[in-house]
Amino acid sequence: MVQIKSVGIIGAGQMGSGIAHVCALGGYDVLLHDVSQDKIEAGLALIERNMARQVARGIIDQSAMEAGLARIKAAPELQTVGATDLAIEAATENEDVKKTIFKALTPHLAEQTILASNTSSISITRLGAASDRPERFIGLHFMNPVPLMNLVEIIRGIATDAPTYETAVEFARSLGKTTANAEDFPAFIVNRILVPMINEAIYTLYEGVGTVDAIDTALKLGANHPMGPLELGDFIGLDTVLSIMNVLYDGLADSKYRPCPLLVKYVEAGWLGRKAGRGFYDYRGEKPVPTR
Ligand code: NAD
Repeated sequence: MVQIKSVGIIGAGQMGSGIAHVCALGGYDVLLHDVSQDKIEAGLALIERNMARQVARGIIDQSAMEAGLARIKAAPELQTVGATDLAIEAATENEDVKKTIFKALTPHLAEQTILASNTSSISITRLGAASDRPERFIGLHFMNPVPLMNLVEIIRGIATDAPTYETAVEFARSLGKTTANAEDFPAFIVNRILVPMINEAIYTLYEGVGTVDAIDTALKLGANHPMGPLELGDFIGLDTVLSIMNVLYDGLADSKYRPCPLLVKYVEAGWLGRKAGRGFYDYRGEKPVPTR
């Protein structure tokens, strides 16, 4: 097993910043990379806000927050991430984007570095093949929001070796998370089940069976879900939801996974959900207001 001390994170969006947050509180040295300094700064600011909220709620104390923040460094150059013990890619859910990152990173990797992807749906075997080390490549699928959600799905590619798997499980546990193993098939376990439900909720809206409010109220009170499916789609990001549906549709070749045209329309409009200020709800005012 590899002794992990430093973690590099590529992509400082909602997931990358959440992973950086829990790694830093877990005592790891963290390098955070994104396409621009602005994006890295936004990620760092989000981490600070979220840690401050944890302090206010008594989950961590002020000194843990300060020590955690001090462990996270901005990494404007991708190459520097190559020297970490574990590099976790958490960039946009797009296979070409991810493969380009792994190809660019490969010449700069230290001998011992383990590569991981936080992808929600894309084949770990295919992503691993874009690097020089498919045997030391693994899926570490954190859940959103990372500081609050206990699960990490662990996905082995066809070539992933046993020490890499054991190191990944140990690493996730060291962050206080519980792991579930999933085989490397489209969208693994959680999103194979969850995202078609969100897509079906969007069809329900598209076909006029219910309004946004009726659909979310029905699932919250009728199925005891903490969030309605449309609210959850907005929370995940509708671009990510669409990408996952496309991976399921292409990868399993079954028409039951076809993305709802209304989901495509929202993504085309840039109404990507919470992170864009608008999705099935408009978040720009005091209270979220349904957009249909
Ligand atoms: P996001 O849009 O919030 O963040 C993505 C970040 O990646 C952005 O900051 C973007 O600038 C950056 N990025 C894009 N291209 C890059 C590149 N070439 N190099 C470096 N950074 C780049 O998206 P997110 O919700 O954080 O999702 C990131 C990954 O995590 C995706 O693979 C997604 O499927 C996965 N994921 C998302 C959720 C969720 O609920 N949103 C849950 C689990 C896993």
